[in-house]
Amino acid sequence: MRILVTGAAGFIGSNYVRELLGGSYAGYETARVTALDCLTYAGNLANLPTGHPRLEVVRADVRSRDALLDVLPGHDAVVHFAAESHVDRSVADAAPFFSTNVLGTQNLLDCCLATGVSRVVHISTDEVYGSIAEGSWDEAQPLLPNSPYAASKAASDLVARSYWRTHGMDISITRCANNYGPYQNAEKAIPRFVTSLLDGGTVPLYGDGRNVREWLHVADHCRAVQLVLEKGRAGGIYNVSGETELTNLQLVGHLLELFDVGPERIRWVTDRKGHDLRYSLDDGLIRRELGYRPQVDFRQGLAEVVEWYRGHRDWWEPGKHSE
Ligand code: NAD
Repeated sequence: MRILVTGAAGFIGSNYVRELLGGSYAGYETARVTALDCLTYAGNLANLPTGHPRLEVVRADVRSRDALLDVLPGHDAVVHFAAESHVDRSVADAAPFFSTNVLGTQNLLDCCLATGVSRVVHISTDEVYGSIAEGSWDEAQPLLPNSPYAASKAASDLVARSYWRTHGMDISITRCANNYGPYQNAEKAIPRFVTSLLDGGTVPLYGDGRNVREWLHVADHCRAVQLVLEKGRAGGIYNVSGETELTNLQLVGHLLELFDVGPERIRWVTDRKGHDLRYSLDDGLIRRELGYRPQVDFRQGLAEVVEWYRGHRDWWEPGKHSE
């Protein structure tokens, strides 16, 4: 079994590769992994094991047809994480988002088609649905993305679906909630808050802090991705919810508690343009059909993440978001 993982040097991709090579997934203990990444600011080779006998690292861009036609032959499946992933950056400059997320996905699927690699898991996001004040989305809800990031992900999600429908490729799609865990770039909410607190600084909170997100531990997300890879239907779309729904203010409250500091460490900042109020997924389908169950308790997972960032200053300090 040979699996090609795109975006493998990023946050979720590298967690997935480490779990896969570490033997977390029964039946895949001997799987060989090709970690493909073009190493944008978000990719870091230090996220991947060094010198692992079943790991090959390839520096390549998913938009390069030549590179993909060269590397894809011989693989049994592709797990496609590669993307531009930060909403704020998409507000400042959307071009790389549409280029990598949409055209990169189309190029990757064309190359899979040309090389006979039919099995693909495409990693999408809850943000493709837009924003929901009450209730939760199931997979049949229309896609109404609001940010350029979400629009580019919605487009790539539909590109993936179209290659299943048109070409009969064995493609499944996951749409997951906000992930948290080790190796997440310090520009994203939880690491940004944690690293600011570790530096003795304040936590920047958007707007009135009432935006609601669901939080999913990256190990649970990777478990879901693996289940979909193994048992997901061709053309199947699977929400992966976070179970823990919190306003940003509540999230920060948990962190302040872990650091044993008070609300004076909150710094209110101007809201993000077009900031979605709430995301909420119904993930009954992946639970019923594939037997998915999250395993990481949020409070414990968050405390472990704080300890991880405390112990890995060398990893995050060079790329820390400038306040
Ligand atoms: P990330 O930004 O940490 O990692 C993305 C990786 O893709 C980086 O290593 C980067 O170098 C690589 N990459 C970017 N452009 C590339 C290109 N053109 N060719 C090859 N590699 C390229 O992102 P992440 O948080 O790990 O997210 C992974 C996937 O999961 C993305 O598709 C994202 O949309 C999706 N997702 C993430 C979250 C989350 O909470 N982080 C939630 C839902 C969905």
